Amino acid sequence: MILKSFSPNTIKLLGQIGCTDPTEVEAIVKTAKDAQVHWQEIGINKRINELKIIRDNLFSKYAEIAQLISDENGKPFAEAISSEIIPTLSVFDYYLAKSKKYLRPQKVRIKLPVMIHKKSWIEFEPWGVVGIISPWNYPLLLPMGQIIPALIAGNSVVFKPSEFTPLVGSWIEKLFNESNLLKNVFNVIYGEAQVGQSLVNSKIDKLFFTGSTNVGKIISKNAADKLLPISLELGGKDPILVLKDADLDRTAQGIAWGALTNSGQTCVSVERVYVHESVHDELIHKLIGPVSRLKLYNGSEYYDLSALKTEQQANKVKEHIQDAVRKGAKIIFGGRQIDENKFEPTILTDVNHDMLVMKEETFGPIIAIKKVSDDNEAIKFANDSDYGLSASVWTKDISHGREVARKIKSGSVLINDCISYFGTSEAVVGGIKLSGTGRVHGRSGLMEMVYEKYYNSDSFTWQKKFWWFPYGNKATENMKFALTFLYGRNVFKRLMAGIKILPALFKGK
Ligand code: NAD
Repeated sequence: MILKSFSPNTIKLLGQIGCTDPTEVEAIVKTAKDAQVHWQEIGINKRINELKIIRDNLFSKYAEIAQLISDENGKPFAEAISSEIIPTLSVFDYYLAKSKKYLRPQKVRIKLPVMIHKKSWIEFEPWGVVGIISPWNYPLLLPMGQIIPALIAGNSVVFKPSEFTPLVGSWIEKLFNESNLLKNVFNVIYGEAQVGQSLVNSKIDKLFFTGSTNVGKIISKNAADKLLPISLELGGKDPILVLKDADLDRTAQGIAWGALTNSGQTCVSVERVYVHESVHDELIHKLIGPVSRLKLYNGSEYYDLSALKTEQQANKVKEHIQDAVRKGAKIIFGGRQIDENKFEPTILTDVNHDMLVMKEETFGPIIAIKKVSDDNEAIKFANDSDYGLSASVWTKDISHGREVARKIKSGSVLINDCISYFGTSEAVVGGIKLSGTGRVHGRSGLMEMVYEKYYNSDSFTWQKKFWWFPYGNKATENMKFALTFLYGRNVFKRLMAGIKILPALFKGK
């Protein structure tokens, strides 16, 4: 089977790539497993050095990959730089600088007096082969946010890019193929759901899935059968709370960008706006300006909004607008489908939580605005969602903003900004509820790539422990003394018990 890749803007065929035969996936995973042994053994310094070369190669070819992302995904070239290349380099630099420190073995101090002489420590072991399944909306940043820490931690990787952006996937493959050390350590497989399923069913050691909640559920069920550890980064329905003292000019610009960047096809995009009734009308007035000035792709080099990437997305946007209007929403701006997969950016008001546009992820250029009477109502509506990825609060009173932020149930809350934390590698990204279970970026994103292995070493090689067999009268007495000594409240009794247990501690049984 062949994957054909089209530009959503021009509908031109950009290229094609042969699919991986699903029956071959297991063999690729086996090769990756064999290659992982050496990759782990060479140590973190060599792995970091190798990834530094890849990082520099990416930097020197940034224009080439930014153009390919723009062609294949549709987003403007400038946005490909700001939302894919810069954040990816940030991921590189963050993990290249921090991983050694984070993955250093950690001493564990044991306080239990009978074990105080033992040495204990934790080492962070790579899982082995890590499978990474990615979507099309950020085809470079999303997989790289997982590939880079996976490799630095000593895993090998089998990566399946989206069938809608296979050319960016292939570009990533070539980038890593320039390294001899990474041969068979980094692998790419191409195809649709069936190929992804083969990866889930293969002998990988951990799976990272980024994509829709529906597919996340299917994967979760399949993985459960063999207790495959999985990390799920799924959909969102992010709320934004505009409090009555917010700077409305700035907030309007923030909403326009937060809802419409990448034409709204962003997991952490602004999908629900709750605005205080005292500033509701003024905010809408201020929002229409920046939204109406946005340029949809029309063949020229500079534009703000692309066509939607897939027909499925276009159908969903249409359905959400129609459903909202049928249930009483007003279209304040836009609302028209210009051609098959091009929509005008659309502002909806008078929306409610019976409408699809407030319940399900839209993933398109819609700004849905609901009036609220106070902060508590805004918080209540923000939390009335099956999703919990990200949120934002807009106010001039930062300490009040923090109070409101604490009451919102989601993986992150930004105050007076939105989305941008995805581009800072120190920030941890991930959701709760139907938005998923895993974490990417930050220290947590690296720790997802390893498991903690505990070591404990006893140098009292002559000592038979008093809690070993047999359980005679003496052993029972010793247990009672030990219990009193360890956990009693009476200092005198503890002391006496300590003296009684001392011979057993030193001589053993
Ligand atoms: P999708 O779920 O349709 O596909 C994602 C990937 O899964 C693709 O590579 C696809 O081929 C593969 N796949 C599909 N069915 C599969 C199966 N049964 N088994 C294994 N693999 C399978 O998602 P999409 O349309 O590509 O991406 C959009 C979705 O991704 C949105 O819901 C968005 O919110 C979400 N997303 C989440 C994050 C996050 O960090 N939380 C980031 C980006 C996108």
